[in-house]
Amino acid sequence: MAEPLVYLDGEFKPKSQAAINVFDHGFLYGDGLFEGIRAYNGRVFLCREHLDRFYDGANCLAIKLPLAKKEMREVLYESLKRNGLRDAYIRLIATRGVGDLGLSPLKCAGRGSIICIAASITLYPDEFYRTGMKIITSAVQRSHPECLNPRVKSLNYLSNILAKIEAINNGYEEAIMLNHRGEVAECTGDNLFIVKNGIVKTPPPSAVILEGCTRNCVIRVARKSRIEVREETLARFDVYTADELFLTGTAAELIPVVEADGRSIGSGKPGPVTLDLLAKFRRFIKAYRDPGV
Ligand SMILES: *Cc1c(COP(=O)(O)O)cnc(C)c1O
Repeated sequence: MAEPLVYLDGEFKPKSQAAINVFDHGFLYGDGLFEGIRAYNGRVFLCREHLDRFYDGANCLAIKLPLAKKEMREVLYESLKRNGLRDAYIRLIATRGVGDLGLSPLKCAGRGSIICIAASITLYPDEFYRTGMKIITSAVQRSHPECLNPRVKSLNYLSNILAKIEAINNGYEEAIMLNHRGEVAECTGDNLFIVKNGIVKTPPPSAVILEGCTRNCVIRVARKSRIEVREETLARFDVYTADELFLTGTAAELIPVVEADGRSIGSGKPGPVTLDLLAKFRRFIKAYRDPGV
């Protein structure tokens, strides 16, 4: 099989030749940002939402992206086309660019690199969707919003990685991360929802979360079918005493959780609201048309 083709600054290069300069500040300092996007049946899912977040994040980091949103969208579709993919996971990356060894972005050569990798999807095992996942709370907190605001999907994911390591070391796949106030924020790469007395609840952006495109989509899908959704501060108490618990993210889609910190959630099986929302979300994906940017 031919090598996958990676978009790098205007060219498509075979995977083995798609390389970044070691003086790029994206590599030296994690100075850059990324997006994880899905394509279903040849359509880039929630394309506009992902690009809006990408450009907002770049703006926050004072990185000037060399392409307009429309052109960036073309890169996503071209990456699918060149790799003959209709269902894919797309990683879009922007770096600060090549500089010297100092921190200053002023030394970086004007424009950073844009990288786009389209890969076939790796999923959690199907079993997780039927029987639910088990998670723990990590001791690693989300960074304070006045340090690096987690609303930026930056190339510095070390807090999340440390939390993930903690989960794995304890035999789990995902971990809940609390914010600097000790409130529930989200998981290492997924947003968190609970269901209590038929009401769906998830922490608001002010709880220091990455505001997931999947999260926002699931909220819309739920509200459309008259399920009440509240963005509300949650404590671990709320998680432990929830009737149902689930996570959302581009890669995971919507995944039930049946145990948190050794406490069985609800019946200990994926709950009816979760399964209903999962079915509705999958229907939404099937019917999705990319409206453009
Ligand atoms: C990417 C990410 C999510 C999920 O966002 P989606 O847009 O739904 O993929 C949630 N939390 C963190 C920390 C993330 O990096």
